Amino acid sequence: MSERDEVVVALDVGGTGMKCALVRPDGSTVHTERHATGAQRGPEAVAGTILDVAEGLAGKARADGRTPVACGIVVPGVVDEARGVAVWSANVGFRDVPLRELAGTRLGLPAALGHDVRAGGLAEARLGAGREADQVLFVAIGTGIAAAHVVGGSAATGAHGAAGEIGHILVRPGGPRCGCGRTGCLEAVSSASAIGRRYAELSGAPTTAAEVADRAAAGDPLAVEVWREAVEALADGLATGQALYDVSTVVLGGGLAQAGPRLFGPLRTALRERLTFHREPRLVAADLGDEAGCLGAALLALDTLAKESR
Ligand SMILES: [Zn+2]
Repeated sequence: MSERDEVVVALDVGGTGMKCALVRPDGSTVHTERHATGAQRGPEAVAGTILDVAEGLAGKARADGRTPVACGIVVPGVVDEARGVAVWSANVGFRDVPLRELAGTRLGLPAALGHDVRAGGLAEARLGAGREADQVLFVAIGTGIAAAHVVGGSAATGAHGAAGEIGHILVRPGGPRCGCGRTGCLEAVSSASAIGRRYAELSGAPTTAAEVADRAAAGDPLAVEVWREAVEALADGLATGQALYDVSTVVLGGGLAQAGPRLFGPLRTALRERLTFHREPRLVAADLGDEAGCLGAALLALDTLAKESR
């Protein structure tokens, strides 16, 4: 332990749970905690819990002889990172909550607020599967599909805090209805939930995407078809991503990436077929699992410190 064993307080707030940690400047985690978000209690109560948990973590660090030096919090939805405001979130209920200022005031420490998927992408690009590459597209595929474009170790936020929403690239005009209200979005075809839903519609049996992958591998013709449709739409989305970003590495995370070779094999082939003069990116599975968002929150906190000391 160094003389002033410095740590940052990191929180990844999701719709159901918060993943929290104390993280050293080298990215190693010294302590983790999980808490319920309790989103049904409303956004004010959730913000209160975030601040309580963050303060508790800083206290835990001090009790263990460590020095908390900054705090990073990441949340889902639309996040204005420049102003430190959680602008909008469907599953946590935030509307213009100035979380960075609230956390900074409560903890008496420099604080950073970020977006969960962009933070996860940052962690994968700097510490995980994309660490050899300078230009990375991280794509999280679960209930929805969202991405982070990381260049030189920082994730683009967009002008309105909404960069990386590749789940809403139009891939199948007139196709299935998306949660955003339009039809034919990538996540309405290729998200894990969409794959399970499509198979259930056609077979009448409720099914998860993982089961569809298993059944497709076992030769169930309906599952083969649903899986093929999803992989092809995903390849369309990634080809659009490559046209826009020209990255060297695409890191796939979220539940669907756990399908492993059943996903990566046909997806690489389908993506290759769609690229003409663009270079084919390396397509790899995420390394950090569900820790990525929390580690990304820690990186944002450390980046804030680095900026302040400049
Ligand atoms: Zn959409």
